[in-house]
Amino acid sequence: MSQYRLAVIGGDGIGPEVMAEALKALRAVSGPALALSWDEADAGAALWQRTGEDLPKETLALCQTADAILFGATGLPDVRYPDGTEIAPQITLRFALDLYAGVRPIRLYPGAPSPLAIPAGRRIDYVIFRENTEGLFASRGGGATVGDTAAVDSLVITRAGTERIARRAFEWCLRRPGAPADGVRRVTCVDKANMFRSYAFFRRVFQEVAREYPGVEAECAYVDAMSMYLTQAPWRYDVIVLENMFGDILSDLGAATVGGLGMAPSGDIGGRWALFQPSHGTAPDIAGQGIANPLAMILSAAMLLQWLGDRHADAAARVAAERIEKAVGAVLAKGHAKTRDIGGTATTREVGDAVLGAL
Ligand code: NAD
Repeated sequence: MSQYRLAVIGGDGIGPEVMAEALKALRAVSGPALALSWDEADAGAALWQRTGEDLPKETLALCQTADAILFGATGLPDVRYPDGTEIAPQITLRFALDLYAGVRPIRLYPGAPSPLAIPAGRRIDYVIFRENTEGLFASRGGGATVGDTAAVDSLVITRAGTERIARRAFEWCLRRPGAPADGVRRVTCVDKANMFRSYAFFRRVFQEVAREYPGVEAECAYVDAMSMYLTQAPWRYDVIVLENMFGDILSDLGAATVGGLGMAPSGDIGGRWALFQPSHGTAPDIAGQGIANPLAMILSAAMLLQWLGDRHADAAARVAAERIEKAVGAVLAKGHAKTRDIGGTATTREVGDAVLGAL
């Protein structure tokens, strides 16, 4: 029997609302073969407003001692530091725990709406590997302003940081059946190497790593063109690797093609720790109304179980991950419980209950 203790952080806005539904699913797959338990902790902009701390040391310690971290969302647009930036403990955690790989599956489930006209037989199913600890985000809190006349943030790319995210992307690609359009295992490096030395360096290191994986097709694209390709023919893509800021942007674009942010799970994975959270934020425009789509959060919980299964060679965790993912697929295919963002009228809780029913 395997036992895992999770750190659970609901956060701000819709974070706790969607988290409640993911915990229902985790309770349902927990049993004699897979004992899951968790401790809940606080973090976020509302906490910062109340206490002056957005990531208390107890919360960080809990994350460091847990087997894995499940995270809702944090940040509130109206709560800001004097420099104008937001309180963002989710980013602090990525750096503090060296969660260097932002893994963001973009998958269109049958029954979920896409704004794209998708030719018969085409599927969208690719994974974005966003470098999570450097790039433009390395400047967070370290940029400079010159009086009221100029502001600067620097973009940092290191060889070590690029090698490890590229390797992770290629390794993941080997586990996949290839791009939906042609079955070719393909890793696409997205950059702006035509203009900046930092991105040219990212590309060069990517190409060096690619030589270690002769069975995988390696290609490069510029980020501006890529945002067009991902809307014209997303089925051509298998695994995509890119710098932090570009990953931040293209993963939301990808989410839009598969039903929106409510359909986009993610994992922030390092060598020692891993945190799983939906790609979306706190959605203040719908918070407190009970209408947020919990599926991205529930699928993030499935990713957490898959990661535990891989890390500990634990079949029970892998099976539980598959069960949750299949249950989400079944609910979408049946179409009886969909939130407003994907064309239904169900509440957050009704969708969570439907997943529970399917489990
Ligand atoms: P957002 O992702 O919160 O919302 C963007 C849009 O998507 C909104 O219209 C929202 O209603 C919709 N949406 C998001 N999740 C949804 C869901 N589960 N179901 C239905 N609709 C959903 O992005 P934003 O509005 O740019 O940011 C709001 C706050 O969240 C900001 O403070 C931002 O800094 C923060 N944020 C946090 C994270 C995180 O914790 N990882 C990520 C992104 C943004």
